[in-house]
Amino acid sequence: NNTLDILIVGGGPIGLACGLEAKKAGLSYLIVEKGCLVNSLYNYPLHMTFFSTSDRLEIGGYPFPSIHAKPNRVEALEYYRRVTDSGELNINLFEEVTGMETSEDGIYKLNTTKSEYRASNVVIATGFYDIPNLLRIKGEELPKVRHYYYDPHFYYKQKVLVVGSNNSSADVALETWRKGAEVTMVIRDIELGRIKYWTKPDLANRIEEGSIKAYFHSSLTEIRENEVDIQTPEGKVTIANDYVMAMTGYQPNFSFLQKIGIKLSDDVKRYPAYNPETMETNLPHVYLAGVVCGGMDTHVWFIENSREHAVKILKHIQENSK
Ligand code: FAD
Repeated sequence: NNTLDILIVGGGPIGLACGLEAKKAGLSYLIVEKGCLVNSLYNYPLHMTFFSTSDRLEIGGYPFPSIHAKPNRVEALEYYRRVTDSGELNINLFEEVTGMETSEDGIYKLNTTKSEYRASNVVIATGFYDIPNLLRIKGEELPKVRHYYYDPHFYYKQKVLVVGSNNSSADVALETWRKGAEVTMVIRDIELGRIKYWTKPDLANRIEEGSIKAYFHSSLTEIRENEVDIQTPEGKVTIANDYVMAMTGYQPNFSFLQKIGIKLSDDVKRYPAYNPETMETNLPHVYLAGVVCGGMDTHVWFIENSREHAVKILKHIQENSK
C-alpha cells in the first residue's frame, strides 16, 4: 500500500514534532520540506538569540542542553538536526508541496516539485517566514531594500534606515549601529513596539542619547537610489540612505492555503479555519500546526506554545481511525 497515514508539509520545528508524534503512534508518515532542515531558523539573523529558554524549544521529549539560558541560532540548528537523526525521522528536503487534491476514495493526493504522494491525513506546518509584508511604496523594488537581515558587518559605514520597531527592527538597529552603521529608524507608533525585555532599554537609551535617530509617528513614503522620504509629524524629511531594512514582518502563504481548499476569515487577519481542540481544518483529515495557524497574527504562535499541536493532531488521527 503506497498510501501514507500522514503527510506533513514543512520541516520546521513543529513539522518535526508532528513527525515524532506520528512515529510514536506507529503510523506511516513523511515530512516534505521545501528547503533545508528547519529552513526558517537557518534563514534567521546569524547572531540571533531565541527569546525562549532551550527547554521550551524541545520537541518529542529530546533534551536541548544549552550553556546559556537562551540558545542561539547555531545551537538550535544543531539540536533539530540531532533530533531528526536520533528520531530517525522520514523527511525529504528541498522538495516543495505545490498542490493537493482529494481522490474519490477520500485519500489526499499531493504534488511536489519532485514526486506525488497519497495520504489519508495531511498536516500543514508551513510557518510564516517565506513571504515578507511589503511597504507598498515607490522604490521598494530597489535591490537596496531588504526584508531579511543576516549579519551586521556588511553595513559598516553605511546609512541604514530601519522600518518598524518590533524585535527584528530593534536587533537590526542595535547590531548594525554597534558595527559602525549610521542608523535611522522610522516608527509608525508614538513609542517602541514589542521588543525583548532585555533589548528594549538598550535601544531606548541609544535613541535618547541620539546615537540612533528615530522618527516616531512617522512613515517611509518613497525610496530612491541615494535617499528616502519620511513623513513625520513636522512634515516631510528627506535623508541620505544606502540601505533600507524593512523589518515589517512576514505572512503565511495564504494563496497556497486557499489553493488547497482551506478557508480563511474575511477580515484583514485572514485566520485559517480550524478546530482548536483537534487542529482539523474545514477539510476532513487536513490539519494545521505551528505558526501558520495565526493568519496575519504571526506573533501569537511560536515553538513553545505550538509544540502541543502535534500531540492534539495525533490524538485526533488515532481516535478517528479506531
Ligand atoms: P517554520 O519554522 O517557519 O517552518 C515551516 C517550514 O515549512 C519551513 O521550513 C518552510 O521552508 C516549509 N514550507 C513552507 N511551505 C512549504 C511547502 N509548500 N512545501 C514544503 N515545505 C514548505 N519562536 C519561539 O518559540 N522562540 C523564539 O525564541 C523565537 N525567536 C524567533 C526569532 C526570529 C528572528 C523569528 C523570525 C522567529 C522567532 N520565533 C521564535 C518564531 C519561530 O520562527 C516560530 O515559532 C517557528 O519557526 C515556528 O515553527 P513552524 O514549524 O510552525 O514554522
